[in-house]
Amino acid sequence: MRQPNPMIARLCALVWTVTSALLSPAVHAQTQDKVLNLYSARHYPTDEALYSQFTQATGIRINRVDADDAGILSRLKAEGAASPADVILLVDAARLWRAEVDGLFLPVKSKVLETSVPATLRAKPVEGGGSAWFGLSNRARVIVFDQRRHKRESLDTYEKLASPEFKGQLCIRSGSHPYNLSLFGAMTEHMGPAQTERWLKGLVDNLARPPRGGDTDQIKGVASGECGVALTNTYYLARIMRSTKPEDQAVMANLGVVFPNQASWGTHVNVAGGGVARHAKHADNAVKFLEYLVSPAAQQHFANGNNEWPVVPGMKLENPALQAMTGGSFKSELVPISAVGMNQFKVQQMLDRVGFK
Ligand code: FE
Repeated sequence: MRQPNPMIARLCALVWTVTSALLSPAVHAQTQDKVLNLYSARHYPTDEALYSQFTQATGIRINRVDADDAGILSRLKAEGAASPADVILLVDAARLWRAEVDGLFLPVKSKVLETSVPATLRAKPVEGGGSAWFGLSNRARVIVFDQRRHKRESLDTYEKLASPEFKGQLCIRSGSHPYNLSLFGAMTEHMGPAQTERWLKGLVDNLARPPRGGDTDQIKGVASGECGVALTNTYYLARIMRSTKPEDQAVMANLGVVFPNQASWGTHVNVAGGGVARHAKHADNAVKFLEYLVSPAAQQHFANGNNEWPVVPGMKLENPALQAMTGGSFKSELVPISAVGMNQFKVQQMLDRVGFK
């Protein structure tokens, strides 16, 4: 085996020092053992308590870099072996898959993670054991509609969103947003590409306005009457349902919620998860952190704090909004995450062809 060139090694070390100094003063404390550098796409203020409980329990301080999934992936690629990242958290299955394919994770062998996270919600084991990433929480992509205008039977599948009945009524965020790309990638698995493209064209024909804003904006669009139907992730909806603000309670007044495709393949569910970064300098701390995130306390926190479903089976759900939405449980689709990931490029091409911005 060739010895590394000492000059190159010194240069790499210098680049790493400069990069980490630029990152933030906190992240500069690389050499300390009780440190964890977290690159997170989780954009939820309720996670703060989760992280501080970990620090209290272990004494490991967390330095966090927040960005969206795409930002984190491009940053990790740019940093390469010099990256200070120890743990990567992403909020979309296809992005997790992408990061895995790009070799950004260090596969982890952990009894705790393997027994807690079902095999369908983690990366396929690599040769010799260990998975690149683990699902930590779930969110469902559901239909909301104006109960003054529609009955739930006319909206009980994703396919029906393309029906001419809803012309000029559909509100949705950008088609290229990871949440939609994953849904459309899953639809491609269920219906095949040709039918999915026709369906996407139908969605475009039904738009009430050009896609814009986040999921909460679509919910509010239905409440205001600008939209008759919309798509949202459940946690945005639960946030409004649990709000005590009169304006939020007003939003819910005429809003119907449907978990689509209960009689066929099930509602689309997307996973948020994470793994240890390929070049982690504190890999042991990173594994400890992931194991902490599947503990009953942390799983309850995902459910109560950010209105997500736990990935660990058998957890008793205490969140009243999630209970109210589903009446307890619902059927979720079973599509391999790798298939959803691989369909992304195909889906983006379809979106371009049908003019879905
Ligand atoms: Fe989100």
